[in-house]
Amino acid sequence: MSLSIPFANTYGTLPAQLFTRMKPTAVADPSLIAFNHDLAAELGIENTQDIAELSRVFGGNEVPQGADPLAQLYAAHQFGQWNPQLGDGRALMLGDVETTAGRFDIQLKGSGPTPYSRNGDGRAWLGPVLREYVMSEAMHALGIPTTRALAAVATGEQVFRETALPGAVITRVAASHIRVGTFQILVARRDLDGLQALNEHAVERHYPDCNNPLEFLQAVIHAQAKLVAKWMSIGFIHGVMNTDNCTVSGETIDYGPCAFMDEFHPMQVFSSIDRHGRYAYGNQPDIIVWNMAQLATSLVPLMPDADQAVKDFTAAVHAMPKLLHENWRNAFGAKLGMTSPSQEDDRLIQELLQLMADEKADFTNTFRALTDGTANPKLDKSDAFQSWTQRWRTRIEREEDPIAKMRAANPYIIPRNHQIEAMIQAAVQGDYDPFHRLNALLATPFAASSEALYLTHPPQDAERVEATFCGT
Ligand code: AMP
Ligand code: MG
Repeated sequence: MSLSIPFANTYGTLPAQLFTRMKPTAVADPSLIAFNHDLAAELGIENTQDIAELSRVFGGNEVPQGADPLAQLYAAHQFGQWNPQLGDGRALMLGDVETTAGRFDIQLKGSGPTPYSRNGDGRAWLGPVLREYVMSEAMHALGIPTTRALAAVATGEQVFRETALPGAVITRVAASHIRVGTFQILVARRDLDGLQALNEHAVERHYPDCNNPLEFLQAVIHAQAKLVAKWMSIGFIHGVMNTDNCTVSGETIDYGPCAFMDEFHPMQVFSSIDRHGRYAYGNQPDIIVWNMAQLATSLVPLMPDADQAVKDFTAAVHAMPKLLHENWRNAFGAKLGMTSPSQEDDRLIQELLQLMADEKADFTNTFRALTDGTANPKLDKSDAFQSWTQRWRTRIEREEDPIAKMRAANPYIIPRNHQIEAMIQAAVQGDYDPFHRLNALLATPFAASSEALYLTHPPQDAERVEATFCGT
């Protein structure tokens, strides 16, 4: 019995200017590194036992039955600069599937050049593929909306970056790959028919209760406010919040230069290309509002009265910072054991974050030590922290079961940069054990165990990763 994927392929019914139909470029020697059987089952994929077939399909050498592969067109503001022509330069959507949990895209990334490749080779190397696999699955286990990883395949080919590196293909699953930049390109090209069709598709797919573009905008704003507040609450820095890396579904997408913080610094930047810190940890709530303003602008042509639309959309975007702050307060309140944190609790949260920044305390371990009642090496010696602890204890006396709440909000482990780097180094040498171990442990990030203890250790000085790179 051969592999069966229940493709529905609705994106291919949209106007033809939104994509290019084409097949992936075959690779020399596809060999399966990982396949996510749990996710496959959720997607209704069957007959997944033939490793050689999985390698061929998810390496791009064989188009599975029912697929309608296409490269999607989009544009973007990258670091605030308008780039009128992007698109899937090294990705191809095999198609979308219909499940009881909704519709999902299945996309190969690293599958060869497309008309949107510009000067790129259409390929990915092993490092970013494994990084995205581990990071996106870890985010899912942490309860953060995200694209997921279905498969990773080594291509048996070399990819040339600064040096020759092993090539790989990742299969990404997303609620959709519709980006703010997908809307932007249609407006820039004055393609009202395309824009209308895309909007209808996005509404039907993600927010079927929305009756007009304003409600759609508000729904995306709500989803993104929730998402970015969740990122903040686990010390996640996306690193490249360009409008092509910003979904309308509210899922995290693009794991290029992202990173979790070890020591807390409110303006931490890891991405090597983010020279001015536009996408620093503390800037993320401002940037997402900026991105939503770009979406709002793109929706104006859909409205009968442009002046009224600008007024209404502006109000919706201006309401976002408050929404973000409420989501932020709820997320951090939960981390401190509070069920319904109020505005007064902001001070307690902010004071802790300030102390953590002053003492360069580890973000994840600080909250976990408060949860478990264990030592906080960097903070315990501080009188200000002792005084803060007193006030916090008093505050949560009136909570039902604060520790249980904290256990569910404060992960024991996260994918730390230095462990990700070590995993990639090992994989390049042919040792995939660290990759599989990371995946297994990060599937239950809230559970303490002796096996996972090494993932709680911040980097030694020599292990410290100062910069992360885009996955190109
Ligand atoms: P990213 O930085 O991953 O969001 O990519 C930005 C744009 O560059 C997207 O349109 C990608 O498809 C394209 N791109 C990135 N890497 C490559 C590559 N190796 N070959 C072709 N296009 C690429
Ligand atoms: Mg991207």
